[in-house]
Amino acid sequence: MDEKIMTKRILLLYPNSTNDGVMPLAIGILSAIAKDLGCEVEYFETSFYEKEGSVPEERERTGEFKVSDRKNLIKLLPYERLRDDFIEKIETFRPDVLGVTVNSIEFEKFEEFVDAIEAVNPKPFVIIGGVHPTVAPEEVIKNSFVDALCRGEGERAWEEFLSRFIENKDFSDINNLWIKTGSGLQKNPIGPLIKEDKLWARPLDYSFFDKRHFTAPFDGKMYHRGQIESSRGCPFSCTYCANTAFKNVYRGLGKFVRVRPFDNLVKAIKKQVEMGSEMIQFQDECFLSIPHDYLKTFCKWYGEEIKLPMMIQTRPESVKEEKIKMLADMKTPVQISCGIESGSERILFEICNRKTRLHHIKKAFDITKKYNIRTTGYTMIGFPTETREEAFQTINFIRELDLDISIMSIFYPFVGTPLREYCIEKGYITGKERTTNFTDPPILKNQPMSPMEVYNIRRVYSLYTRLPEEYFPKIERCEKDYENNRELYNELISLMYTSYYRSWILH
Ligand code: SF4
Repeated sequence: MDEKIMTKRILLLYPNSTNDGVMPLAIGILSAIAKDLGCEVEYFETSFYEKEGSVPEERERTGEFKVSDRKNLIKLLPYERLRDDFIEKIETFRPDVLGVTVNSIEFEKFEEFVDAIEAVNPKPFVIIGGVHPTVAPEEVIKNSFVDALCRGEGERAWEEFLSRFIENKDFSDINNLWIKTGSGLQKNPIGPLIKEDKLWARPLDYSFFDKRHFTAPFDGKMYHRGQIESSRGCPFSCTYCANTAFKNVYRGLGKFVRVRPFDNLVKAIKKQVEMGSEMIQFQDECFLSIPHDYLKTFCKWYGEEIKLPMMIQTRPESVKEEKIKMLADMKTPVQISCGIESGSERILFEICNRKTRLHHIKKAFDITKKYNIRTTGYTMIGFPTETREEAFQTINFIRELDLDISIMSIFYPFVGTPLREYCIEKGYITGKERTTNFTDPPILKNQPMSPMEVYNIRRVYSLYTRLPEEYFPKIERCEKDYENNRELYNELISLMYTSYYRSWILH
């Protein structure tokens, strides 16, 4: 057959819910596979259409992040243009396949603007993957615009699907895919997890991404930030986390935590450096769980050859002095972020399935500080049954830890997580509520704290955790009546940054 007729056009879509340039690894992987199969690939994203309720901007407003000049770098288009621009993209490119990647929040964005697109003729074959289709396939497949979904890791299924699609062969029996066929919905089982020697074998395609996608604020300044996975999968099972939902889907189907072959990691980091990275952010859920010898080899190499500031995330339990010393010996700035979640052991043990005593978390941060490593802690508020007293135990614990940065999110019961099931069982949610952002008021009903109390505490969290106690009466005024104390609130945020904030010296 004529090669031109065989060439398929693939449009990849990322319905980013923030106003920041994000480079989803999934797009780089899907595009690389499609191009290797000879397809013509284009990309559409919602990143640069101005949306309400963008979380990073809200965190700048509430002082958790220093205000950056991201607005000067990223010019945003009016949101109203989004639907027309997307339709125009489809009509001019005329894709055979539309491939979409979404988490739960992004799926709502996707549904917001695709409802009118069914009229597009010819309609592309629409296949959607990512966390949300994995944990909520019944909900996703109901969308009449969607023809198929992919559950779990998409690399193998996408390659198999495209290969058969290109050759006009039947693709209804591919593992991981749910497909609407002429005879009904075909739900195929999930195949085994991809082994580490295959998982990172194909380099990502970065061709759709520019400065806006790689530049992210840090300490109020914009830096080109390379993003890397050195492992995938988290060994823990926190009840509120999408990782747990994902892990449950893969139970019995192979090793969940996989470590990237070292040579492959080296190549990927060098590529980021060539592309102009000024810092490297590791996306592993628990970086310090990688094997001891691997970490030793990595630190020696990175400290000698790369030396760029690096950011990692890890669990406090994985912080051991020997490992932290290896990081410190690289003599490059390192930031470690840990989920702390709550200062109440009741919440940690009974609600979150994070069975770590507060004094162990404290010890982990004492070690990192001893080696001058920058510390970030993530907390949450609005857990089911959480009281005001427990929320203040979190605030007081963060004060005691004296972190460089701490951010607080509002609990949302994500689909597929054990804590969502608990909330439904107890009648705190119906399960039909709209998905919210991490800074929106909580959706749980019949709780010790009202939704507005939770929302208001989060808004002054950075003030409560950073300013001396003598400011507490003023902060409480802002907490209880924000609208009539805006001026005071802004003064306190500004005071916090001028007098009580440690900037990170990068060079
Ligand atoms: S440690 Fe982090 S990534 Fe792992 S399950 Fe818990 S919250 Fe999720």
